[in-house]
Amino acid sequence: MSVELLAPVGNYESFIGAINEGADAIYIGGNKFSARASCENFSDIQFQNMIDYAHEYGVKFYVAFNTLIKQNELKEAFEYGIKLYNMGVDALIVQDTGLINMFTKFKECEVHASTQLSIHNLKGAQYFEDQGVKRVVVSRELSIEDIKIISEKVETEGFVHGSICVSYSGQCTMSGLIAERSGNRGRCAQPCRMEYSLINKNGQEFKNGFLMSPKDLMTINILPKLLKETKIKSLKIEGRMKRGEYVVNTVKAYRNFIDKIQKNIKITKEDVKAKEEDLLRVFNREGFTNGYMLGYEGEKFLSVNNPKNQGVYIGTALQDGSVILKADVSLGDGISFGDNGFILTKILNGKDKISEAKSDMKVKLFPNKFSKGDRLFKTNDQKFEKELRKSFENEYVIKNYLKARFEFIPNKPMVLELFSEKYDFSVKVFGDVVEEFNNIPISKERLIEKICKGRVGSFSIDSVEIFYEEGYINISKVNEIRRNALNEFREKLVNKFHKNLKYDFEENFESKTRIQNSDEEKYFVFVSTDDQFNVVYKKGFRNIIISPFMYNRKINFEKILSFEDLNLYIKFPTIIKEYEFEKIFNVFQKFEKNIKGIMTSNAGIIKHFKNSNLEIIGDYKLNIFNSMATKFYEEINVFTVSIELCEKEIEDLSKNSDKNLCMFVYGKPDVMVSEYCPIGTFVGKRSLNKNCSRPCIKDDFYLKDRKDNKLLLTTSINCKVSTYKEEPINLINEIPNMRKNNINIFRLDFIDETYKQTEKILDYLIHRKSFKNVFKGNYYKPVD
Ligand code: SF4
Repeated sequence: MSVELLAPVGNYESFIGAINEGADAIYIGGNKFSARASCENFSDIQFQNMIDYAHEYGVKFYVAFNTLIKQNELKEAFEYGIKLYNMGVDALIVQDTGLINMFTKFKECEVHASTQLSIHNLKGAQYFEDQGVKRVVVSRELSIEDIKIISEKVETEGFVHGSICVSYSGQCTMSGLIAERSGNRGRCAQPCRMEYSLINKNGQEFKNGFLMSPKDLMTINILPKLLKETKIKSLKIEGRMKRGEYVVNTVKAYRNFIDKIQKNIKITKEDVKAKEEDLLRVFNREGFTNGYMLGYEGEKFLSVNNPKNQGVYIGTALQDGSVILKADVSLGDGISFGDNGFILTKILNGKDKISEAKSDMKVKLFPNKFSKGDRLFKTNDQKFEKELRKSFENEYVIKNYLKARFEFIPNKPMVLELFSEKYDFSVKVFGDVVEEFNNIPISKERLIEKICKGRVGSFSIDSVEIFYEEGYINISKVNEIRRNALNEFREKLVNKFHKNLKYDFEENFESKTRIQNSDEEKYFVFVSTDDQFNVVYKKGFRNIIISPFMYNRKINFEKILSFEDLNLYIKFPTIIKEYEFEKIFNVFQKFEKNIKGIMTSNAGIIKHFKNSNLEIIGDYKLNIFNSMATKFYEEINVFTVSIELCEKEIEDLSKNSDKNLCMFVYGKPDVMVSEYCPIGTFVGKRSLNKNCSRPCIKDDFYLKDRKDNKLLLTTSINCKVSTYKEEPINLINEIPNMRKNNINIFRLDFIDETYKQTEKILDYLIHRKSFKNVFKGNYYKPVD
């Protein structure tokens, strides 16, 4: 099976470079609803030309439609998507489940489920496939083994190179909450790339640095294993925000290795080293990581000291300001040391000025801004990048050659037929009538030369079978028939992808009138300690959510199970890899008989319980932004809407949904879910070869930023980490307002609140006392 190499495109240079270097497919953001807001914008005509250009080369053209869609954007988003399909895009990569629900209604619309949907287990992938999704882009946190399991059954696309988020993509609301720039809408402010300290509850510091900043993913060294052991369909390179040089460099490297693997050409250690060095030269953060492909890498996964492009180490400054080079340098290169940098303007070899210096030479570099002991890095390699730029300097570098059959017979129109084994069609074009000749006939050779001359787009003719009798025609007419035939061939090819879909939004997705909820308010309360449970129970709340999957929570489940007047719900971990289900279900079975339902945001869990009698509450981690998303998850009984929605957006959603909506009105928000565990890495010393000493079972841990803001870390029995903002969202004052919007189901989460704190919250709620100066999340601060 041939695997697809999928390249990122954020500008025209990347587009041309990706195709010239042999990408099988490209993905790009549309002008709207793309998670890379700062990429180049293209007009419709430019976009159409690019789609046609890609199709000339048999390159698939995907558009990333991977942002969450607010209710008032739904119609525009749907219409924009249909317009893209009509322009000929091969698939949309979609995050918003409302949009997936809409596009998958139409068989002509191929939908790929974005990595933003955190699809990480086979059941989850199958859930999306059941809903009409053709391909799933799996989470970047998967190992080769995980990918193997999913790709056996479901068409799978996975990242092999580029930046990775520390959180599972689609599970981070941190940027939205602190800066109103939602990572789920392509506006992430990257708070994870800041400096943090890891501390315990007593304030003891275990590590300081860029503790949430992963290196970039690189899989060149494990590509043979990945391709041999899995049936992954598409290898995706991240980097729509990156420059053309980066795209050329990465596509070139991966193309080369994929071809070798597919042709069974041996890849040596030297080949790998050379390719890794090429990749390092354009962008890296303290080198690369294999991510989770081979397992949990521990500290090696992170760029703890420098979250920016580190470049290539070129040497350490000596006492006299000279450097013994570890890599070549040239004038114009960008050099960095610590937080500083300069452009290389002079190189001295002894007393000689030189324009470039090779590795191992002892030279002086200018401007000499560094001091003895400074480690120097080349962050911009002029010579190398100039070479890379050549790849996108010209369009249509690669030609598509066609064969021709040409009839040139006096008193008959010229006929030119074009065809090729590569295509399942041919074209036949008629030209002007060939005249009898008076003096000299046009020779056969001249005609062949004219037919093979020039090109249209990538197409030109390289061989002609000619049916010839001596005759005459103005040579411009031969040029004309060639141009017409090539044009027609090209048109026929690219038009095959154009569509003429006419789907009316109102007609297909008419909004349902909201069912009137009962007057009674309903509360779901999540508790994670006995103290919290005791006070919640005492205050009369009976819909209780618990999680037996969290580590280090002081709670007695046996006792809770003994209460007969409770409606108990079990909250599942957001992330459960396929091989972890057994462990999770082993725990779950102790509760199964005593519960009313479950709470989850895991598609695999939804699939598992869809036919059970249990009530399913959708967690806010499902990112429900619009009414169509509530229709996507038919099995869910109650939807907790996204915590990134503001008052007006919730009102819009509520007006258009006929489902039970629940508002998260109190609790520390779980702003990130990650495979990476800072506690295990820096305290438990977990790595590829070493198990964790499990410190999270005995202590509470936090990340503290430079302004002393704390993030609480909680861990689960399958070693996933939830990061909670210390300041809880408190929307209790807004409940009457929400009631006006016909929402009467509310949820409160208690994570590490004491008895007294829990009691105070509940007293205020019960007696409708007003809170002062509380954090209201995005309720009045809409995210971008
Ligand atoms: S045992 Fe705890 S500290 Fe160790 S990796 Fe797992 S979750 Fe992290």
